Amino acid sequence: MAVVTRAVKGTHDLFREDLAYHRTLLNAARRWLEAAGADEIATPIFEFSEVFERGVGASSDIVQKEMFTFTDRGGRALALRPEGTAGVVRAYLEHGMKVWPQPVRLWYAGPMFRAERPQKGRQRQFHQFGYEVLGAGEPELDAEAVALSYWILRGVGLNRLSLKVGSVGDREDRERYNAYLRELLTPHTARLSEDSQRRLETNPMRILDSKAEPDRKLLEELKVRPMLDFLGPEAKAHFEAVQERLRRLNVPYEIDPTIVRGLDYYARTAWELHHELLGAQSALGGGGRYDGLAELLGGPPVPGVGWAVGVERTVLAMKAEGLSPAPEPPLDLYIVALAAELVPEALRAASRFWPELRVQYGVKPRKPGKALQEAERKGARFAGLLGPDEAASGRLTVKHLRTGEQRTLDIEEVKEWVRGGGS
Ligand code: AMP
Repeated sequence: MAVVTRAVKGTHDLFREDLAYHRTLLNAARRWLEAAGADEIATPIFEFSEVFERGVGASSDIVQKEMFTFTDRGGRALALRPEGTAGVVRAYLEHGMKVWPQPVRLWYAGPMFRAERPQKGRQRQFHQFGYEVLGAGEPELDAEAVALSYWILRGVGLNRLSLKVGSVGDREDRERYNAYLRELLTPHTARLSEDSQRRLETNPMRILDSKAEPDRKLLEELKVRPMLDFLGPEAKAHFEAVQERLRRLNVPYEIDPTIVRGLDYYARTAWELHHELLGAQSALGGGGRYDGLAELLGGPPVPGVGWAVGVERTVLAMKAEGLSPAPEPPLDLYIVALAAELVPEALRAASRFWPELRVQYGVKPRKPGKALQEAERKGARFAGLLGPDEAASGRLTVKHLRTGEQRTLDIEEVKEWVRGGGS
């Protein structure tokens, strides 16, 4: 029989230190986002493929090349979610959140799936947390969203961040820009990568995001004008208002006139957060305004703005800056039976501390010296010894491992001593 002891390429088990980093980030996200009035939402990890085809955009790389799709037994086309926004907007529409006081602020965290070539910072299953503000279009909301994405990352200690803000304008602005790009690039079609030749047909703006060498070279030679030059008066005023709010909030940003995000639904504000020590895959997260998305899904117009941060990528950045995860609380007490027939009693004793205190017991009997060693190795603050006398009297002999002080006490007294930290 084949041995199945390896996870699928591009997927990873998370435990101990890595999970501690994840938890540190998610706790920071929860703290900031709930402080700002967001409700948590958990949408399914698969949806009808159409949610992403229409939401993320049929011309995006994600839908064209990176979705894990499958057909269920009823013949329905489903996909593992490659990102969180389309599902959140689908849920907003499905549950009539339009009648809630607007705007509705939602945050989420969970695994996302993209069939990309696995490499450092690029996985097939990865994790994101994100924030979406739906139902209002004021520039304060763009600035709030940008600022929160920045502050959460600063809040876990990251210093080497750069925040790039731009605007992709309104639909007519993008149409004018795409027409300009088509005219400029069509005479050079043969020099474009295969992907970009396709993009020239479907959505020329995507070409600006291309990492392919021939595309990069051509774009440089042609001195392509940036999207920002094509903003109409309304998008321009909105972009200026967002920047004014960011300055008011003391959020340091640079304008990136070339920003075009990899998802088709963005309109007006778009931003990315990069880390200076990460090299090629330096984007920790990004976001933007997506006022047209709800309509693409078949709903009424609902303005929205939001972002997502990649957890694994951010953990790489934390490690690059020498940041540690928040420490886990230590084991309070480790209980050891001094004879085999007392092990069941060790289990019972441990259970009396749960869930207030963190208590483990050994399933093998040990001599007292060995028991204390084992407790030390577990990182416990106290060791509890359970011999025949203790079992008969319902007590425990407890040693405070730092001070060496030892007492024989009943369970309630042990609780008090351990909770008091051993003083
Ligand atoms: P996007 O939805 O493409 O804007 O991605 C937002 C963030 O998610 C990126 O900046 C990355 O931090 C992270 N991310 C996207 N794709 C992957 C992937 N395949 N593996 C790991 N992280 C990813």
